[in-house]
Amino acid sequence: MPELPEVETIRLGLQKTIIGKRIEKFESLDSKVVQFASKDVEGYFISDIQRRAKILIFYLNSSRPASSNDKYSSNESEKLVLCHLKMTGQLIWEECGGESEYCLRKIKGPSTELRTTQRVAGGHPSPDWVAKLPTQHTRAIFNFDDGSKLFFNDLRRFGYMKLYDTKELSNIKELKNLGPEPLQFADAPSGQASADAFDVEYLMRKASKVPNRKIKQFITDQEIISGVGNIYVDEALFYAGISPLRPAKEIKLSEWTKIIESIKKALELGLKYGGSSEDTYIDAFGNQGTMGDHTKVYRKTGQPCPNSCGGTIKRITLGGRGTHYCPACQS
Ligand SMILES: [Zn+2]
Repeated sequence: MPELPEVETIRLGLQKTIIGKRIEKFESLDSKVVQFASKDVEGYFISDIQRRAKILIFYLNSSRPASSNDKYSSNESEKLVLCHLKMTGQLIWEECGGESEYCLRKIKGPSTELRTTQRVAGGHPSPDWVAKLPTQHTRAIFNFDDGSKLFFNDLRRFGYMKLYDTKELSNIKELKNLGPEPLQFADAPSGQASADAFDVEYLMRKASKVPNRKIKQFITDQEIISGVGNIYVDEALFYAGISPLRPAKEIKLSEWTKIIESIKKALELGLKYGGSSEDTYIDAFGNQGTMGDHTKVYRKTGQPCPNSCGGTIKRITLGGRGTHYCPACQS
């Protein structure tokens, strides 16, 4: 399941490829996943792609940006498509629009240049991302004016695409209750940021409302902090030396500071390596994320603690999720 670094990595890939393109035709192949009428987006240009927590936001505008490098300010857009990949969603942009046998020959060629200009894939990996498109899991197709296409595939159909007017931005229910972003991105558009800062005071205030909640479940609550899921919380708590089982009320002031620093460190590492490879994760340029090679405790059950404390990484189930930690040095 994609977390903040994975979704951000996909966003950056798509931002390089589809900004300024006009949606010539939109094909909705599944009304559960695609929750709007095709005609409501046809004729619009993609003016920007942003992200809030794990949700991608496509900004649509009825007129073309001045040049392909010139994007609209997000505030000037007229419509928004929210896209959540959930468990198994994937986005695949193909320059030659589904003529895949031709495309794949180029993708598999030795040139990185050809590979990155022909197909851009991100999200849950499956044979679909190198298969001929569309596949049986394709739920939507953006057909752009230059002949390229963006496919939204979703095997298990938990993902969605929803359409809103941009002026509704501050009231969109999927966005408005999300907690603050743990990392600051320079290009985050106004209107979608949380009113709260990601700081010690904020976390202590939230913790006082759910004093007995275990710190791991506290951190992964999207209404408290945006975008931190199972991999990055296990890593962050290891960096901070804090047991995932500690109740929020027992976390001391200095420990909250450590938790903040550790969450940022874990997410930044995820971004650096293109996201996790939990499910052989593949980013927007078809590169497999290598975060899995850099985790300290996540999926390291039974291995010696990397802190050389003499402990062994243990796996327990907490709130239904596999949880990895070192009982010897996380207390
Ligand atoms: Zn240890």
